[in-house]
Amino acid sequence: MALRIVILGAYLSTAGLSHAAPPPYSAQENDAPHDAALAGRESISRSGVTATFPSDERRLAEHVLEVVLEERDDLSRRFARADLARLRVDVAASAEEFAALSYGGVPDWGAGCAFDAERRIVVRSPRAARAPLGLRTLLRHELAHLAIHDELGDVRAPRWFHEGAASAVAGEWRLEESAALAVAAWRGTLLPPSELERGFPSNARLARLAYAESYQAVLLLEDLSGAGTIEELVRRVGSERSFERALRRLASADAASFDALLLHRLRERFGLALLLRRGNLLFVGAAVLVLIGALLSWRRSRRRLSEWAHEERESRERRGDAGGSWR
Ligand SMILES: [Zn+2]
Repeated sequence: MALRIVILGAYLSTAGLSHAAPPPYSAQENDAPHDAALAGRESISRSGVTATFPSDERRLAEHVLEVVLEERDDLSRRFARADLARLRVDVAASAEEFAALSYGGVPDWGAGCAFDAERRIVVRSPRAARAPLGLRTLLRHELAHLAIHDELGDVRAPRWFHEGAASAVAGEWRLEESAALAVAAWRGTLLPPSELERGFPSNARLARLAYAESYQAVLLLEDLSGAGTIEELVRRVGSERSFERALRRLASADAASFDALLLHRLRERFGLALLLRRGNLLFVGAAVLVLIGALLSWRRSRRRLSEWAHEERESRERRGDAGGSWR
């Protein structure tokens, strides 16, 4: 049986580099590989939500179910057109399981993904991939993808809009995002949103930058439109016939001028000149953290070397071999 699959978005984990970015809106024909991946798994259900899991992840699955029910209620209140009545969440205990459950379409930095047609979310167990923002934020991000998809209706929005809106709904901004934008603004490597229309970079570092920029792009659009909230912005976009039309109506801009507006704003807010001029605390804080990290790493290395030397000395003494040239 062939299925049409749409991956709504992968969520960044702290894992390393990836194979390939997911095809966000390109439908794939597939013979439901997750049926095989689901064999032998257990499941629990409550109020329309089913969580499937391998037997040693029962406690995690119970927690996931509880969080999804709470977040679903909140998102259903915020997005009037969201249909989150029936959902399935598959908990993957390993990278292989995650790949099988997500049709292999998510880069290995992905910690979660959402499939809109199936009303299904896949999350990696924290044992398999440590999500930088915690499980609740990850689940909220993936649920937000489904709600935003419903609210947009027939309007096909670019990937940056989906990711930025889901990240904003999940409240994901941290010091790392500010630092990534500051570095990219300084090096002149900011990505124009029009390059994030159909997919994200497969490289984990660039993907992190893409998420941060997408978040800021959605905030810019919210400001320009006067929408006041992300859900109101998404509702207004969904009420237009196309995203291009929504951009013209809400921001008085086409894709190229919106690119220019965003890059200008990012340089203004995160660029080095401004950071130095105002002595931005975030920048100074990030620099101090990097220095502290380097110092701790250096001290750890020295301590380890000293422990090795000590062990070596003891070992040689036990062997009665005090001579030689080990020093
Ligand atoms: Zn996402």
